[in-house]
Amino acid sequence: MTLPIAPRMQSDDAARRLADVHARITRAAKIARRDTDDVTLIAVSKMHDVAAIRPLIAAGQRVFGENRVQEAAEKWPVLCEQTPGIALHLVGQLQSNKAAEAIALFDAIHSVDRASLVAALAKAMDGQDRRPACFIQVNIGDEEQKGGCAVADLPALLAEARAADLPLAGLMAVPPVGLEPAPYFALLAKLARDHGLDGLSMGMSDDVETAVTLGATHVRVGTALFGTRA
Ligand SMILES: *Cc1c(COP(=O)(O)O)cnc(C)c1O
Repeated sequence: MTLPIAPRMQSDDAARRLADVHARITRAAKIARRDTDDVTLIAVSKMHDVAAIRPLIAAGQRVFGENRVQEAAEKWPVLCEQTPGIALHLVGQLQSNKAAEAIALFDAIHSVDRASLVAALAKAMDGQDRRPACFIQVNIGDEEQKGGCAVADLPALLAEARAADLPLAGLMAVPPVGLEPAPYFALLAKLARDHGLDGLSMGMSDDVETAVTLGATHVRVGTALFGTRA
């Protein structure tokens, strides 16, 4: 028979994992002569329930990421009510017909990747008078079947986003699985520089250090904080 994990042990565990990830970010920032405070840690809680999220909130984490609007709407209103000051970031693909719901729920959207979504988000923002920060997601490895706009289409999409007055925070990417991520992070950083954007949403559990040394301002970490997903 296995004993249930005591809540106290769970929260010690969450605090330790959070401290580990912070230490990794701090070490990488130091190497790159960057200020750790310039890197926001987004705890990606997709597929983890509120019981798994609470210990991380108790450990002091306030910025969280989800990849589906519906799942976030089910989990977060109660948690946000209990703990003021939580910021929610959408890191997964967004359908245009969910734009209004996403604007109501999220403080930042990392997956703006096409003109029709730019239009839907701009309309929803005007309707609700809420303006979450927007990252343009780039399909940085030009992979088939991957979210994000093609690298070649980025200038046109940025022009659309600027014309629609979207609050542009920067660029986001997920490099190809199984390849060395550094060249892709470097390319995303170059694209952001070329287009006068400051924000760089890149780096996950396995490559936080690489992303931070190459300029990430937002790292999106799930597994290293919550354990593996079911
Ligand atoms: C799930 C997810 C993450 C977190 O990935 P881990 O490898 O678990 O850290 C980051 N970014 C996006 C877009 C995700 O969907």
